[in-house]
Amino acid sequence: PSLLNLSHRHRRPSFIQMGRVRAVASHIVGYPRIGPRRELKFALESFWDGRSSAEDLEKVANDLRLSVWKQMADAGTKFIPSNTFSYYDHILDTTSMLGAVPHRYGWTGGEIGFDVYFSMARGNATLRAMEMTKWFDTNYHYIVPELGPDLKFSYASHKTVAEYKEAKELGIETIPVLIGPVSYLLLSKLAEGVEISFSLLSLLQKIIPVYKEVVSELKAAGATWVQFDEPTLVLDLDSDQLKAFTDAYTQLEESLHGLNVLVETYFADVPSDAYRVVTGLRGVSAIGFDLVHGEKTLKLIQNLGFPPNKYLFAGVVDGRNIWANDLSASLRTLKTLEGIAGKEKLVVSTSCSLLHTPVDLVNETKLDSEIKSWLAFAAQKIMEVNELAKALRVEKNEAFFSANAVAQASRKSSPRVNDKAVQEAASALMGSDHQRPTPVTSRLDAQQKKLNLPILPTTTIGSFPQTMDLRRIRREYKESKISEAEYVKAIKEEISKVVQFQEELDIDVLVHGEPERNDMVEYFGEQLKGFAFTVNGWVQSYGSRCVKPPIIYGDVSRPKPMTVFWSTAAQSMTTRPIKGMLTGPVTILNWSFVRNDRLRFETCYQIALAMKNEVEDLEAAGISVIQIDEAALREGLPLRKSEQAFYLDWAVHAFRITSCYVKDTTQIHTHMCYSNFNDIIHSIIDMDADVVTIENSRSAEKLLSVFREGVRYHAGIGPGVYDIHSPRIPSTEEIGDSINKMLAVLEKNVLWVNPDCGLKTRKFSEVKPALANMVAAAQLLRTQL
Ligand code: GLN
Ligand code: ZN
Repeated sequence: PSLLNLSHRHRRPSFIQMGRVRAVASHIVGYPRIGPRRELKFALESFWDGRSSAEDLEKVANDLRLSVWKQMADAGTKFIPSNTFSYYDHILDTTSMLGAVPHRYGWTGGEIGFDVYFSMARGNATLRAMEMTKWFDTNYHYIVPELGPDLKFSYASHKTVAEYKEAKELGIETIPVLIGPVSYLLLSKLAEGVEISFSLLSLLQKIIPVYKEVVSELKAAGATWVQFDEPTLVLDLDSDQLKAFTDAYTQLEESLHGLNVLVETYFADVPSDAYRVVTGLRGVSAIGFDLVHGEKTLKLIQNLGFPPNKYLFAGVVDGRNIWANDLSASLRTLKTLEGIAGKEKLVVSTSCSLLHTPVDLVNETKLDSEIKSWLAFAAQKIMEVNELAKALRVEKNEAFFSANAVAQASRKSSPRVNDKAVQEAASALMGSDHQRPTPVTSRLDAQQKKLNLPILPTTTIGSFPQTMDLRRIRREYKESKISEAEYVKAIKEEISKVVQFQEELDIDVLVHGEPERNDMVEYFGEQLKGFAFTVNGWVQSYGSRCVKPPIIYGDVSRPKPMTVFWSTAAQSMTTRPIKGMLTGPVTILNWSFVRNDRLRFETCYQIALAMKNEVEDLEAAGISVIQIDEAALREGLPLRKSEQAFYLDWAVHAFRITSCYVKDTTQIHTHMCYSNFNDIIHSIIDMDADVVTIENSRSAEKLLSVFREGVRYHAGIGPGVYDIHSPRIPSTEEIGDSINKMLAVLEKNVLWVNPDCGLKTRKFSEVKPALANMVAAAQLLRTQL
């Protein structure tokens, strides 16, 4: 089994006759791989579990690729991408292509097959997986290459050429897509043990020869175009990094001879110095720009001009969101660009790969037709790109354009979208600063009088293990198979079980366990106005994992309390404090598809208002500890430094709007799910929560260094003392050690003891001993302080 799909067993006769549809100047940067019904996910998981063979998996992959290519060809797409399919991740595919397999996987050469490939992606019984990290500011995660001076590169996966040939045999000419050599290196990290002074860019010399081999094989196979994705061009790069692009393409120039070369950028505008570099690259005949998220791109092209004789690929159809394109606005932009690049040189494209959108709106059976008319998923975006290209070159499909105009107008004026009262309330917020009147130290004193907690108080992050039974109960209730009374009874039983469980463990601040929630955003979205939910709107997060983000389409408000019933039920079962449990406005925003007719912060303030009402209702109902999770606050950080301060400012404000109007005696917690926040520590302090619990167990040193460096911090803090992502049960000593390390840099009266994150993915059999050890460690240390 290999990544190549050379097996001819599954080949179908070539049935796509080129020329049946007249291709127009249109291009798609990339396409979702997972399939309209997550076919790839299920095929992968069944293969990994040993329930199906490599051939079964290859067959599913072949069919998916074929259907995507056919769909694009039928729509008239001229530049159809190949090699945008991946069994796991396109950066891992590039690592395989370059033979850059870390030594620990014991690979000794030859074509890389499923074994090595999936070991790198997921680890195996004995080896850990490679690290995964967020792909720019999307929710997609890629496998980070681990590089160093000892690595020997060689051409070890022929997947790019194989996919090109596969399409060609079906009668479809494609543009093979590669991650460009400079972006590949800039997205890599140093392998373990490599000197920190080692320059990853110095590896350019070693990887370019492999790229040359790939290119010459593509040429031999008949390719006339090739696409290099260089999205790092939109980041803040220094002059050495920029120079690497010039060097790389100069070195490639000779082998690229005879090919048309597209360098594709996306996710933001290209800064002007990078623009000069990319437009001047040798051997490059076309450049792709993101004209949706690159808000300044159009101005830049107008001001700096565009080289004559190069193609301009204009990404006007949004690859990151689900809204139908405003076709007439796009057409105006395209006409402007045509005036600059020339009629023959303009190609209509997507802003980035469509990987970040769900696959096909056709599969949405529950959305009403009005909302559906406002949306476009990947399949619909292909049509939009092609209709725009036809309107420029051939003739405008009047019916398509006028249906689009009607939908745009209905969205603008719909009462479901616009709620005057909400808009006014949210804009009234801009005038004031939203601060708690009392400083945190005095608040903590007031809270302590009321709560009377021991030193090193113990708590958990919110969720408890979600059993199959629980999922079944929620599903049956949703499908009206059980009554509301039966549902409430079952959930209350679960809450009571979890409350008792925590009391027996002697935890100090309890949670209700979140048994009524399947997801921390969906749960609130379903109860707020302005949100819609899809049934099949899956987007790949990593490997076979997908998420189904809600769609925020209108002004957001809260018709009625959302959590008060469950939190008060839990509180009635115990004399210990129950922590109310909410998801914060920034996290709800960042994990949804957001409106493109409002600025992000406007929507965020609306959500903040809704959550503020919930906080007030919880407080009034006697809940005196309230956690507002901001798991995704850091995720929304803009790529470019120049834009970060503005984001952090409104994100912090939104959090404070929800939380600052409570009494001094009400304790506000927040939780954050990432370790890498040293750069935003001041914003976290500005949030002014009484207690912050954070993920920490995999990077304790990094966190502690912040405080060692003298950051002034007075609020409560609970750096997670054990890693909930692993089934391993930490010992009392181990947890004690990690608390002691924190005590060395933090005041003992601000420190909390808690796990890293929610426990919902664990089993009760794991959680019980782990929490028991955690409580034992805290209790032991209390006697020593
Ligand atoms: N309260 C949530 C839980 O415990 C927090 C989850 C998260 O931070 N991702 O599940
Ligand atoms: Zn978390």
